[in-house]
Amino acid sequence: MLEDYAKVQPVAFQIMKNTVKKDRISHAYLIETNGFSQKKDFVFAFAKYLLCPFHHLQSDETCFICRHQNAENILDLKWIEPDGMWIKKEQLEDVQKEFNKTAIDGNKKVYVIEEAEKLNASSSNSILKFLEEPEENIIAILMVDNIYQLLPTIISRCQIIHLNQDDDKNLLYLDSNTNEIVDVVYHFMEHIEVHKKETLLYENTLWISHFCTKEDVSNALTVLIYFYKDIFNVLVNKRIEKFSYYKKELENLSLKNTVESVCTKIDIIRNKLEQIKININLNLLIDDLIIQLSEV
Ligand SMILES: [Zn+2]
Repeated sequence: MLEDYAKVQPVAFQIMKNTVKKDRISHAYLIETNGFSQKKDFVFAFAKYLLCPFHHLQSDETCFICRHQNAENILDLKWIEPDGMWIKKEQLEDVQKEFNKTAIDGNKKVYVIEEAEKLNASSSNSILKFLEEPEENIIAILMVDNIYQLLPTIISRCQIIHLNQDDDKNLLYLDSNTNEIVDVVYHFMEHIEVHKKETLLYENTLWISHFCTKEDVSNALTVLIYFYKDIFNVLVNKRIEKFSYYKKELENLSLKNTVESVCTKIDIIRNKLEQIKININLNLLIDDLIIQLSEV
């Protein structure tokens, strides 16, 4: 039940609760799962919460929605997983047909798309069509591990809910506004945004002298991703999530970027984060990072 996640996912829990309590149920939710291990159970709990006529937060054995432990047993809930490599258009059409059959009862209906990054061109199109002309009483929930894996046109039409990672130790750094790492990473990013490849000449002072070990570098790159995520938030008029104390600076840097360029940059940094796990020369990795970010 949704209440079970109040402590592990406090922000998402609050948003989900408010969406119902304040009568602001959206026709589409995009849940960025961030590797959260209980993502399926959590989204199932959210779907039940939306469907339950009493919006029970806690388990209620007498409730015909809440008592179910499996999505398959709830008529007004459809759970779509990739069929092989992709989520196919036919899978979405089947759900639509099913829902049309029972539309007369006037109940809310929810469909969940797990691994929404596996929508192919034609299934993306049918989702977009739904998002543009939503049907009354039908709610879509898209799950994706990382929001940047989806088309910006899909992202912009959904209410986005971010989940925390299981062990988000990197977030500890970000709690303190005066943290040195955050500051160093900010200046590194700003330098690349303004001076592009010239940053290579200052790499030593800007980066290498601060981050020596694999762990340092991977923490700093994670902070860098969060900075670009916040630039993304500025660009799509969403609230700055992590670095509100850099609001002015991030607004300035957003002028140098587009939604697409920010997504590409985040992808580049994520790739570098993956490469750290393999044995790799850290200085060369940062050289490469600067060059690639400058070329976007
Ligand atoms: Zn209920």
